[in-house]
Amino acid sequence: MTKYVVVGGGIAGVTCAETLSSLCPEDEILLITASPLIKAITNYKKITKTLEEFDVEERPNISLQSKCENVKVVQKSVGSLDAKSHVLRLDDGQEVVYQKICLCTGGKPKLIAEQNPYVIGIRDTESVQEFQKRLSTARRVMVVGNGGIATELVYEIEGCEVVWAIKDKSISSTFVDPGAGQFFIAELNKKKKTQEGKPSKRLKYTLKDIKISESNNTPIGGALGPDWSADLSMTGTQEISHCVTVEKCVEVQAIHTKQEFEKSGKRCCVLSGNPDQGSWPIYVELTNDKVYGCDFLVSATGVVPNTAPFLPGNQFLIADDFGIRVDDMMRTSEKDVYAAGDVCTAGWEPAKHWLQMRLWSQARQMGAYSAQCMVADMQGQRISLDFCFEVFAHVTKFFNYKVILLGKFNAQGLRRDYEILLRVTKGLEYVKVVLRDGRMEGAILIGETNLEETFENLILNQTDLTPFKDHLLDPDIDIEDFFD
Ligand code: FAD
Repeated sequence: MTKYVVVGGGIAGVTCAETLSSLCPEDEILLITASPLIKAITNYKKITKTLEEFDVEERPNISLQSKCENVKVVQKSVGSLDAKSHVLRLDDGQEVVYQKICLCTGGKPKLIAEQNPYVIGIRDTESVQEFQKRLSTARRVMVVGNGGIATELVYEIEGCEVVWAIKDKSISSTFVDPGAGQFFIAELNKKKKTQEGKPSKRLKYTLKDIKISESNNTPIGGALGPDWSADLSMTGTQEISHCVTVEKCVEVQAIHTKQEFEKSGKRCCVLSGNPDQGSWPIYVELTNDKVYGCDFLVSATGVVPNTAPFLPGNQFLIADDFGIRVDDMMRTSEKDVYAAGDVCTAGWEPAKHWLQMRLWSQARQMGAYSAQCMVADMQGQRISLDFCFEVFAHVTKFFNYKVILLGKFNAQGLRRDYEILLRVTKGLEYVKVVLRDGRMEGAILIGETNLEETFENLILNQTDLTPFKDHLLDPDIDIEDFFD
């Protein structure tokens, strides 16, 4: 019997196994992952109490065993789980008996028209390579979705027309409000600043030397990590930098083949002023009745938790978003089964300024915390919810701007009794503060604002800002000194 088993070699699983290893150096820990590479976190840095930054490297599975001697990594796929008997069955028939197990199998992209060969999703290194290959011969691509992946793609793709189809009124709306979306709109068709000559700060994702099966049944790899798009060539065949057309408030209605389109008598939208654009492999019809010919379509419409192997025969509580529900100790509803990262849904009453989003920072935090909970439970102790679940905090980059999101940054869950303070300098910064009863509930900081630490404290301390609110965003006042 293995004391601790972790399933999944993404950020959540690897962090869980590493934390277990450091807490229990004497115990055997088994990490089972379908992918040939695991995700290793490097250059971890805390920017504020809750904001963190790190790089992610893909490494051969063996590297984890060298770093943590009591961790054994097995590259196999899990077929099923018998939670009552504490038995995990692998695809090759092998059975693993565990005392405690943590499920960290991430999410699967939600693809529109999954069976269509001209529709691809972006999730892991392999899918990015497939995307690059197709883009290299493409004249036009349609990107569908309005989250982080779509936003990064639209910014990075060059030499190819992009039609960006979003179902909302403003771009990047999974993360930012319409005002910030408007701030970014100006960047859409700008020539990209070249990174040439700059040292490449982050990893190059690589599958070099790792043999990957070509079959469609290949188990999914881990989701990509920070800066996945920054150093990749995403260039099509055209002599253009950025050429983005945004179609708002639409969904995909139909994807036609060339023959279907020709028979339909429908008309195709013309871009770049040239009506004679030849024919396209697919014609995408949107709900506003516009039809665009494209080389292929990228479906970036989110992920669904990858729970399939674990559900038959067990009684997991499943949340509305299909994640496995966990309590404030990362326990699922099945005894001795924990879950962390994209596969799970936080089922506890969240702190006032925290919300779950399927992000790598939360995958790391949940992975580490679930390990602490497993060990505490084994030792008959109870620990309290980690501080990182106190305030939502995320740092990322959109259109080459630093983006920091704090607390209820989009006034999530607040009624109408909140007010917004705004400071915008076009092309430089966008600062939005959400206040309720004079207290800061959340903030969006775009650009180099240096306000994150002070604002995080103001959210945490719930200082009454009523007397200062007219000056809070005054660029001539150093608010850091003010609230010191
Ligand atoms: P994953 O990384 O998905 O790992 C799941 C692991 O489980 C993999 O190793 C897989 O092989 C294994 N597995 C799956 N099924 C089985 C099985 N049956 N048996 C054994 N092993 C199995 N987050 C951000 O914070 N900011 C961003 O800008 C951002 N951009 C993203 C861009 C892309 C293209 C993608 C795909 C994701 C992005 N994310 C971003 C989300 C972030 O990457 C994920 O939230 C995070 O990596 C999830 O980690 P995880 O460990 O839970 O799951």
